[in-house]
Amino acid sequence: MISRIDLRGETLPEGSALRDLLPRAEFDVEAALEKVRPICEDVRHHGAAAVIDYGEKFDGVRVPGLRVPAEAIARALDELDPAVRAALEESIRRARLVHREQRRTTHTTQVVPGGTVTEKWIPVERVGLYVPGGRSVYPSSVVMNVVPAQEAGVEGVAIASPPQKEFGGLPHPTILAACALLGVDEVYAAGGAQAIAMFAYGTEGPEGCAPVNLVTGPGNIYVAAAKRLLKGRIGIDAEAGPTEIAILADSTADPVHVAADLISQAEHDPMAASVLVTDSDELAAATEAELKTQVAASKHVDDRIVPALAGRQSAIVLVRDLADGLKVVDAYGAEHLEIQTADAAAVADRVRNAGAIFVGPWAPVSLGDYCAGSNHVLPTGGCACHSSGLSVQSFLRGVHIVDYTRDALADVAHHVVTLAEAEDLPAHGAAIKARFGWKVP
Ligand code: NAD
Repeated sequence: MISRIDLRGETLPEGSALRDLLPRAEFDVEAALEKVRPICEDVRHHGAAAVIDYGEKFDGVRVPGLRVPAEAIARALDELDPAVRAALEESIRRARLVHREQRRTTHTTQVVPGGTVTEKWIPVERVGLYVPGGRSVYPSSVVMNVVPAQEAGVEGVAIASPPQKEFGGLPHPTILAACALLGVDEVYAAGGAQAIAMFAYGTEGPEGCAPVNLVTGPGNIYVAAAKRLLKGRIGIDAEAGPTEIAILADSTADPVHVAADLISQAEHDPMAASVLVTDSDELAAATEAELKTQVAASKHVDDRIVPALAGRQSAIVLVRDLADGLKVVDAYGAEHLEIQTADAAAVADRVRNAGAIFVGPWAPVSLGDYCAGSNHVLPTGGCACHSSGLSVQSFLRGVHIVDYTRDALADVAHHVVTLAEAEDLPAHGAAIKARFGWKVP
């Protein structure tokens, strides 16, 4: 069901040599680029008609228009199961608590008397939020995209999610209901690369989608490839790859929890990665036994869970001790990292690379997916060593406002001229000299 990688016999190598020993899914965005390039070009030249055509081709349903009517959004909320509504409201409430704290305030530094630099945080004007809807539908991703954008002060929020055949070409009703709960009324029934291209180039007409400045949100390889292709024309958050969990656990961990959490990640996608890193032979064996029992009782077994657990991206990694375990999880840089060890908080404090860290037995990844208050759009594929998950910061730009008086400029003018000359850019120096009658004070 899941393979073992035994790293107990040797001194662990460093950096990329260690990464090479660890399991990871193949996610060849470069190859997908060739598939999405013509889709994006088509949308660029033919607008909404092309988006609709690709929806018919890939999602199996031809929609009369891309913009979801306001009545359909309102109806979805009216018809939402009250328990799901209560859960979404709680998810939104907790996410707001955390993301509100991430707001940035304008800060002015007095560099010298009469010379200040102010850093002002300005929200992106218009964003396109992608909510996946291929294999599963993710109303939780509506929450995780919209809340930080709103808390950042973004005024134009548009959402795209694939048209669903069984709902007459609308995005899934729970996604529409989540939009209604968050006060978002600009929603498009568009998925995959064509949705990203729609955001980047815009589509014509009164019901058309105006181009956006930034696209965020997870998606499959076609979504990631379109984001890579169109980056520059639009800003992007990250190219999310297949989802991942790593669990660093010792003999104190409960194998029932460990197995359940590995399976919970595997049920996303046949390419999802579930990795247990442990120094305990007993835990490894007990987890393998638990996986057998729990997988048998799961849904999505043959199409997602078994291929994900049995794939080369998943494994139980045996290490000599927790210190080596920490080296392994740092080299791996998991999207989600659970610490299920004695003194878990202290161990978590030593981790350098992870998208989000879940501490101890009562903070499983499922909690973070929905209701911890944390964001679930996180860096995958080892990108946690240089990137963070989605946050209010993702939707802000910090602009420096430079304000110097004549005296403050005069004070430093000779340094500016010297550095300009050292870089052989005399016009830079001249711009200073011109202000002082060509004689630098
Ligand atoms: P998706 O919405 O990303 O992709 C569906 C779209 O893919 C379709 O609308 C279609 O247009 C396009 N498509 C399908 N086959 C195609 C083909 N052959 N050529 C071109 N385009 C094609 O939904 P998905 O496929 O279910 O993927 C969602 C992904 O997002 C999963 O990998 C999941 O794990 C991930 N996810 C991540 C997070 C996170 O926070 N990191 C959250 C939710 C989901």
